[in-house]
Amino acid sequence: MIPLLDLRAQYAGIKTELDAAVLSTLASGAYVSGPQVDAFEKKFAEYCGAREAIAMNSGTSALHLALLALGIGPGDEVIAPAMTFVATVAAIRYAGATPVLADVDPVTWNIDPAAVERAVTARTRAIIPVHLHGRMADMDAIMAIAEKHGLRVIEDAAQAHGATWRGRGAGTIGDIGCFSFYPGKNLGACGEGGGAVTDQPDLAARMHKLRDWGQEGRYNHVEHAFNYRMDGIQGAILSVKLGHLSRWTERRRQVAALYDDLLAGLPLTRPAKAVAQEHVWHVYAIRHPERDRLAKGLLDAGVATGLHYPRPVHLQPAYAALGNGPGSFPVAEALALDCLSLPIFPELTPEQQKHICATIGQLLEHSSVNSHAA
Ligand SMILES: *Cc1c(COP(=O)(O)O)cnc(C)c1O
Repeated sequence: MIPLLDLRAQYAGIKTELDAAVLSTLASGAYVSGPQVDAFEKKFAEYCGAREAIAMNSGTSALHLALLALGIGPGDEVIAPAMTFVATVAAIRYAGATPVLADVDPVTWNIDPAAVERAVTARTRAIIPVHLHGRMADMDAIMAIAEKHGLRVIEDAAQAHGATWRGRGAGTIGDIGCFSFYPGKNLGACGEGGGAVTDQPDLAARMHKLRDWGQEGRYNHVEHAFNYRMDGIQGAILSVKLGHLSRWTERRRQVAALYDDLLAGLPLTRPAKAVAQEHVWHVYAIRHPERDRLAKGLLDAGVATGLHYPRPVHLQPAYAALGNGPGSFPVAEALALDCLSLPIFPELTPEQQKHICATIGQLLEHSSVNSHAA
């Protein structure tokens, strides 16, 4: 079976180094925050090209505190894409603000700047572009809209560690960038983890305080806050893995390029070429009207696939109250129906990719859609 991603293969590749880091943290007694987390924050800020990083217990927490640090709350509107993981929108609700969804671009799958512009009202305070699948949103257009209307920008870079836009790191272009270190992300902990980066020291200080009970000195709680700290072991693990991230990203790019070659000429939609940026390929998603039949055929041939995502946020029961019914965001809805994510991870071999693509080729030979199109 070829999995969608293979965390055991990743562990096998760095076992000695990772085991040593975990054991030394166990012996150190620094289990929550502490020197391992401080060291990771320094290295991660440097990796992103940001002044400061604030480690937390999840990417969702990072989004929540980014909004609070910017003073966003009840009565404020925050614009986010309809095609994202629900955490982007949940965090806006955690802050007490109102999510306003915008449709995505059919080529990049990322928030459509024209749709953002249309969604701006007198109450809009911020935009959260999501760098979906590791491809950065059009940051030139988004920053221009933000400047024009006096809005803050929080980058949801949960899938885009190390991506760059015109040479600038994901997460460092807006006011704050938020990352997830969930195990399956490009940089993943061995448990939950997340963090934010910013160049603005006041925002960093605010997030540091909000993640740790609003304390200024021990047991001096100056504001109502949260327990969003990172574990020492996760900090140690992330420091080790960060040392391998550039190499892993390079491998992801090779995997994506080989898929592009092997799938060329087949009647399906491949991911668009990256423009103005370095893509980090968290997900490699194709589009085909018979995606369910393809997924089933691949599974029968021993290949796991994924759907990112099978339903846009506005059609999730949890967010029905936003009031955007079917047809509200046609591009996001179309992507949800025909997207299919293929296995992508640094350890995936060319032989495995050839098997995957040959299987897709065979399945498409028997495609009714195909013969209609021909
Ligand atoms: C994973 C993810 C999050 C949430 O991160 P967690 O660490 O799981 O809380 C937020 N936004 C996007 C786009 C994600 O992919």
